[in-house]
Amino acid sequence: MGEIRADQHQLVVFFEGAEVSRQMLVEEFESVLDGFVPLVDYSGRRCQCAFLLVNPDLSTDAAVFFHLNFDVSGRPDLHWNTPIKQLASQANTEHSLGSSVRIASYSNCSIAWHQQKLWEPFPEQLEALERRIKENRLGLGQLNRQHSLTSEIPALHIDEGEAPLVLTSLASHVQSDLDEPVLEKQRKAFEQQINLQQLELAKLRDQNSDLKLQLKHLENRFQKSIYDTVSQTIEQREVKWQAKLRQAKLYIQQQARQIKDLESELDQDLSANHPDQTSQLKQLQARGVKLQVDHPGIGAVHIPYDEVVEYLAAPLVYVANLCGVSAEVYGAWLKHRHKPRCQGFDEAGSICNMPIDAVRELAEFVPGRSDFCIRHQCLDESKESLA
Ligand SMILES: [Zn+2]
Repeated sequence: MGEIRADQHQLVVFFEGAEVSRQMLVEEFESVLDGFVPLVDYSGRRCQCAFLLVNPDLSTDAAVFFHLNFDVSGRPDLHWNTPIKQLASQANTEHSLGSSVRIASYSNCSIAWHQQKLWEPFPEQLEALERRIKENRLGLGQLNRQHSLTSEIPALHIDEGEAPLVLTSLASHVQSDLDEPVLEKQRKAFEQQINLQQLELAKLRDQNSDLKLQLKHLENRFQKSIYDTVSQTIEQREVKWQAKLRQAKLYIQQQARQIKDLESELDQDLSANHPDQTSQLKQLQARGVKLQVDHPGIGAVHIPYDEVVEYLAAPLVYVANLCGVSAEVYGAWLKHRHKPRCQGFDEAGSICNMPIDAVRELAEFVPGRSDFCIRHQCLDESKESLA
């Protein structure tokens, strides 16, 4: 903790990057805060500022690094209320600016709810600050306060190289008893500064139009680039799909060819393996001989020549198909007809084999009933009813 001593100078400096761009005594800074003197070169900006307590020997006692926002007309934020003097009094000591300095910054703020209003200076900014204080452009220790209220106003001191686009008429508002030539001189100065401001405004408008054009151009380029990318992707996918489609068609064609080849090979094999039978059958067919077989359940069956191979491969299946039953049912009926015995099983798992009445007609034969004795038919019925 440290009090602000009467012999200390209270300054406010503005930073532009790593450099100090403007410096003023705290009284003039208060005028800036009142909006009395707009700083148009800070229009619409958030400025990095510092409040300093400087000892008579130009060493820095305390520094508070705070933000200050300006509106578009260059007037500071009316709600700005960072207690810079209180923060300077309460600031902790840091080794910086060539000696022990009390610093209040974002990382070193004694009042937590003011932290967001502070910022953290870089070492380069601290060096620039030290250099600028040592230069003493404000004439600290030599300044005559009365003099400061007339012609040369430290509040509006701008470093060399900066465009002085600020109304510098503090004096005319403070001192009203100036003589006519002085007033005339100030009026001209006013006019000149208004003209400068208007020029600056026109320049900003031009810049604004340029930026709008650039933005439009960028938007167009962006849209075109999206359109190009999407078109390219669609084209690439289409090419891929077309290639896959061609491959699939080729594959189908190959498969069809293979099937055809296999079929003709099969025909050749059949002819090659049964040359005699084939020729004999052809001879028989040529002579008008009819092929006829006799099977139980269906009697005499005429076999067409083109079905001879199928019949010979599986006669039972062929006949069962003709009778409209499955090969299993036809086989069971044949067995039953040849030897009518019960096909049910006793408790020991042996076949019952009890003689039963034969069912002569295939159409009346029901497997599991017609080939069961009475006892096994009853057992089967009771099982069904339980199920
Ligand atoms: Zn039985």
